[in-house]
Amino acid sequence: MKLQDKVCIVTGAASGIGKEIALTYAREGGKVVIADLNKEAAQAVADEIVAAHGVAMAVVMDVTSEDQVNAAVAEVVKAYGGVDVLVSNAGIQIVHPISDFPFADWKKMLAIHLDGAFLTTKACYPHMQASGKGGSIIYMGSVHSKEASVLKSAYVTAKHGLIGLCKTVSKEGGKHGIRANVICPGFVRTPLVEKQIPEQAAQLGISEDDVIKKVMLKDTVDGEFTTVQDVAEVALLFAGFSSNALTGQSLVVSHGWFMQ
Ligand code: NAD
Repeated sequence: MKLQDKVCIVTGAASGIGKEIALTYAREGGKVVIADLNKEAAQAVADEIVAAHGVAMAVVMDVTSEDQVNAAVAEVVKAYGGVDVLVSNAGIQIVHPISDFPFADWKKMLAIHLDGAFLTTKACYPHMQASGKGGSIIYMGSVHSKEASVLKSAYVTAKHGLIGLCKTVSKEGGKHGIRANVICPGFVRTPLVEKQIPEQAAQLGISEDDVIKKVMLKDTVDGEFTTVQDVAEVALLFAGFSSNALTGQSLVVSHGWFMQ
């Protein structure tokens, strides 16, 4: 058990990548908090963990709301006594050519990805410091933390920004044993990506099959999607690592789409 009794908050854990990370952490003995906008789906994930004899609770959290983030983290600390691991994972995708990108959509994207990462970090950090044990903060970046793609100006900007936040948290947190790292997955077939396939087909004037083969997986070494399990393995590595040797890093898990 790599996370025995560690309190792990995972945002956006009602679906996709976050859900798989929550299930993986629970199997490794973590006390897992399913933090999501979607109350029913978050509760269903917590119920699934408890049914498998794990420990979990669901909290309603819009990561863009300082009040909701602070209230949810306070609820977790009251229930479980602290916070050891934060996975800032909640995210959405909105695609437009830059000349048509509505400013409201741009602001929404930056709010969820960057304000969300900042607010959850700010709320959890003092508890990691006060415990004297430090903690692990993991940001869900993307290959788009390193590379750009057409139509994704807001997403690429936000995902690059997470690397700056991670490096700063690593420097400030080092003396308290608070580590920060970024996971950078390639395309994973979650609801977020399923939605993009027809959208990109329409925007680019190509078939959905061509969006998958010629856009999403074009530069991988084997034409394969990354899986939620692949990403959860990396999230477990970062969460379970016990020293500052591994901090301020970004790890790409993308079937070779991006090579550092
Ligand atoms: P998903 O749509 O399956 O799940 C996202 C979850 O986030 C949902 O449960 C949703 O309710 C929640 N959420 C959305 N806005 C929220 C908010 N304001 N507050 C709290 N929760 C909110 O998506 P996914 O593919 O699992 O994506 C998870 C993360 O992984 C995102 O940050 C995404 O950018 C990143 N990512 C995804 C891929 C991919 O190919 N799927 C690749 C790289 C990075």
